[in-house]
Order: sequence, then structure tokens, then C-alpha cells
Amino acid sequence: MIDFLKKLFSQEGKEKDPICGMMVEVKTAKFKSIYKNTAYYFCSEHCKKQFDESPSDYVN
Ligand SMILES: [Zn+2]
Repeated sequence: MIDFLKKLFSQEGKEKDPICGMMVEVKTAKFKSIYKNTAYYFCSEHCKKQFDESPSDYVN
């Protein structure tokens, strides 16, 4: 039961798009950037581009 609830509410498999704040499904994400050994996922090419131009603005 607890496992079931965990699954239901967890954000597992999803990452937040640092540009627009949308949750992006990692499995199906088409837009991804690696910055300082961390992968970032984006909802669109537009968000990825914006991030790639100055990643330090979006990562603390
Ligand atoms: Zn986005």
C-alpha cells in the first residue's frame, strides 16, 4: 500500500524544465542538456536553446 502511494505521488521519472518549470518525462524527453555533469530536460527546443545560451542563469 505504501509503495503504491509512493508511486502515485512521486515525481520519479520526471525532471523540471529549468526554463519554464514544466515537469518533463525523462523517458520521452527530446530536449536535454548536460551542464556540470547534471542532465537537464526541456519541454521544447526553445527552452533548451535559452538554457544553452547561459546555463549559469538557471542553475544555482
Ligand atoms: Zn520549457
